[in-house]
This record gives sequence, C-alpha cells and structure tokens, in this order.
Amino acid sequence: MLHMNNLIAGEWVAAADGAVMEVTDPATDEVVGVVPRSGPAEARAAVAAAHGAWPAWRERTAADRGAVIRRLGDLMLRDQDRLARLLTREQGKPLAEAVGEISYAASYLHWAAEEGKRVYGDIIPASAPNKRILVLRQPVGVVAIITPWNFPAAMIARKIGPALAAGCTAVVKPAEVTPLSALAMGELAIEAGIPPGVLNIITGDPEAIGEQLLSHPSVRKLSFTGSTKVGRLLMRKAATNLLRLSMELGGHAPFIVFEDADIDAAVAAALANKLRNAGQTCICANRVYVHAHVHDEFVAKLAAAMSALRLGPGLQPGTQVGPLINDAAVAKVEEHVQDALDRGGRLRTGGARARLDGLSARFFQPTLIENVRPDMKFHSEETFGPVAPVRAFESEEEALRWANDSPYGLASYFFTRDASRLMRVAEALEFGIVGANDAAPSTAQAPFGGVKHSGFGREGGRYVMDDYTQLKYVAWSL
Ligand code: NAP
Repeated sequence: MLHMNNLIAGEWVAAADGAVMEVTDPATDEVVGVVPRSGPAEARAAVAAAHGAWPAWRERTAADRGAVIRRLGDLMLRDQDRLARLLTREQGKPLAEAVGEISYAASYLHWAAEEGKRVYGDIIPASAPNKRILVLRQPVGVVAIITPWNFPAAMIARKIGPALAAGCTAVVKPAEVTPLSALAMGELAIEAGIPPGVLNIITGDPEAIGEQLLSHPSVRKLSFTGSTKVGRLLMRKAATNLLRLSMELGGHAPFIVFEDADIDAAVAAALANKLRNAGQTCICANRVYVHAHVHDEFVAKLAAAMSALRLGPGLQPGTQVGPLINDAAVAKVEEHVQDALDRGGRLRTGGARARLDGLSARFFQPTLIENVRPDMKFHSEETFGPVAPVRAFESEEEALRWANDSPYGLASYFFTRDASRLMRVAEALEFGIVGANDAAPSTAQAPFGGVKHSGFGREGGRYVMDDYTQLKYVAWSL
C-alpha cells in the first residue's frame, strides 16, 4: 500500500492536521493507498508556492521549459507499466487501456512542449508614421487545475503541458478517488527537473480546496474537467475574481448509423467507443440512432459482440470491461436501465449487475436496449456506464434533429459511405468534435473540446496555448 503526500513547493507534505483518506480498488475494495485529506491551509500554501515560482519560470526560454516538459513525458513512457498498474488499481479500467492512457498523456506533454515554442506575437501596421503596434502573448499566471477520476493521468497532462509550456505555474487538485496517478506524475515531474513550486499537487476536500483556489487573488485561471453541474458551480465562484476559464464538461454523444454505412465497421467502432472504460468517458456514445433499413442487422451484431466481452478486474489478463467507479455509479446505470424498460425499451443483452466471485458488486453487464425514446433518462442524462440505447430513424433530417436535440455538445459520430452526406452531416452536427466513420477522435494534434453545456476551451492542436496565454498590446511612439 502506498503512502503519498501533497507536492507543495517541491516538498512532500502531509495535511497540517494529519488528516488522510484511503484510496480503494473499485474491483476488490482493497486499500491501494493513503493520501492527505487537505483543506484550505494546504491550498493556500500551494498557491503561494506557485505564485513564488512564477517569475523565474516565465523568464526561462520556451525551449528550456519545453525540454523539461518533454522529459516528464519521456519519464512517463519509461515508467509506463508501473503507472498503468497504479492507474488500474485506483480507477478500475483494464490494464491495456491504462497503458494506452499513459501514452496518450505523454503525447500531450510532448505536443505542448513543442507548441510552447510557437507562441508568436504580432507587429501591426500602425495609424501614424511615428507609431508602432506590438502584440505580445504572455502567460496568464497561476492556474488552478481540477480534474476528474475517469482519466486520472491524461486529464492532468492535457492541462499541465500547455500551462507550464506557456510559462504559467499550477496547482492541481485531482479527484478524491484517483489521486495516486497524479502524485506519481508529481514524483516524475521532480525527476524531470520541473522546479519547486512550478507544479503543485494537493489531494483532499474538493469544496474547501476549490473555495481557496477560486478566491485566492494570486490565481488567474481555472482549468476544469468534470461534470457540467460542478463546472457551472465553479464558474459562478470564479466570477468573483474574474478568472479566465477552460471548461471541459459532460457530453451526451449521438452515434448515427446511416443506411449506406459499412455496418461491420460501425459495429466495431460502437463497441470500442461505448465500452471503453466501461462506458465512463465523456465522449462515449450515449444515444445510438440507426437507420430502420439496417437497424436489425446492426443491433444483432452489436448485441452479440457486447455479450461476448469479458468482465473482470483490470489487472486480470483478458479483461475487457472493468468495474464502475463506485456504488453510486452502478445505482445510476441500474436506474437508467429500469427507467427505459418501464417506458417500453426492449432489452437485447445485459441489463443487470454481473456477480463475479470474490469481487465487488460494481460490475455491470454490457447492455443494449432498443426502442428507446426521448422521454427516457438515457436521453437527458449521462449514463456513464456500459449501456447502448438504440433507436431507429427514417431519414437524415430526423437523425440530425434527434442528434442535436441535447443541451450537450461535446462529441458526435456518424457512419456513412456517401461523401456528400459526410460533409453535410459533419457541418450540421452541433458538437465540438465530429467523428465521421471514426469513433476514436481524441489525439494530441487536434483541438478537443465542446460547445453548449459541454463547455469551452480546447485541449490539443495548434490552438492549445491560447487558453494559457493572454494578449498585451504595446503602443509605441518613436
Ligand atoms: P465531477 O464530479 O464534476 O468532479 C470533477 C472534479 O471536480 C473532481 O476533482 C471533483 O473532486 C471536483 N469537485 C467536485 N465538487 C467540487 C467543488 N464544489 N469545488 C471544487 N471541486 C469540486 O466529475 P467526475 O465525476 O469526477 O467526472 C465525470 C464527469 O467529467 C463527466 O460528466 C464527464 O463527462 C466529465 N468529463 C469531461 C471531459 C471533457 O474533456 N469534456 C473529460 C473527462 C470527463 P472530487 O472527485 O474529489 O469530488
């Protein structure tokens, strides 16, 4: 069992009052680690450390900062197996997915390390012969980073990479249930040469820490990934100090299969997209719309593939679907399934918890329900579980109307072999991310982020530095 502490100003420190919290394996309920249950005092100390480290860090060259961030990515790859095992223990996902998450996290660090070198300003033709207009792009300052449990390493990497590359310093508060991956990244950050105070990580009481981070005058930005509900709450609190915001919030992805799609490819994509992390991803399909002509074939193939998946603890070889994160998550999936069945949904496979010998009761059978309707909970809430709700449509116009009928706007997917339809539908979907014959769109080269109630801000791509820099106009009279 691991005992880990907060990283503040380059030191490993316990909570001032000695309070701790246990981290447990969702598959077995074993205690995996113990971390501080920090509160306001540690949050203030972490902000002070970040603020103190800022001037020297921002004065370094971008290439110098980039080299250190790149090294952190390299060290994550060096320790990929160890980090992946730790991630699986605290989060539950199959080991192969955890291994993939560590590479994915490192790719964002590597990408940001390079993009930091391309933070350009402008010289603009002026209004008078003796004037010059210069635009500088500068780091925003201390960034508060709050992240969720479903990607305990990647969500942090996507934020600290560009923040530090831009010349900002950071205080990270990981999710209570998955703090170990964050602290393990902190250990590697020290080894990589990230100076004391540039990256601080504190674990503990979300409300007490959040309150301090958002009200502290030295914090200039909040970068948050999590639910829309908490995002909204934090946005209100961030209004007091007019913090800059990046909000990566909940999703409710439609997955559309047109009558001209490659059905086998669509089934394979739906399976991978829906069952990744047992359905606990912000971009996984929440609503599957299939053209009536191909509905029965698609449903039969997807149900067969789902029922063949192997459930188990993430560290067990061959496991394809792990446990859900906690009891509340399982109860929510059960509630959504029951609600759908009560309202006329037809169960094709799954539908209940899977009871596995010697393991927790947090495993849920991969489930396919057809004949779903918009008045079901599936339609309005993120289920965050291994359930595919399917509905048949008759026309492109109907599929698009249903897909866009959601307050969320993160990811969306569709499958077709018609090139004209491909462009038309991609343009019409009101989402930040559109997968066209592709249900695995997330990559460091591309801008990841949502619209509507899924938030704003983009992580990845050549736009990644925008959120961590601000413009300064220098008016120069010669
Ligand atoms: P969450 O409940 O919103 O929590 C996210 C983070 O906020 C956690 O660190 C949490 O701490 C913290 N938090 C909660 N209440 C807080 C408060 N009052 N003040 C300060 N911090 C607070 O979300 P989650 O359940 O961890 O993650 C799942 C959600 O994240 C889903 O909605 C999913 O779609 C979304 N998500 C979005 C993206 C994206 O890129 N758009 C990516 C991944 C996940 P504790 O954990 O300690 O409570």
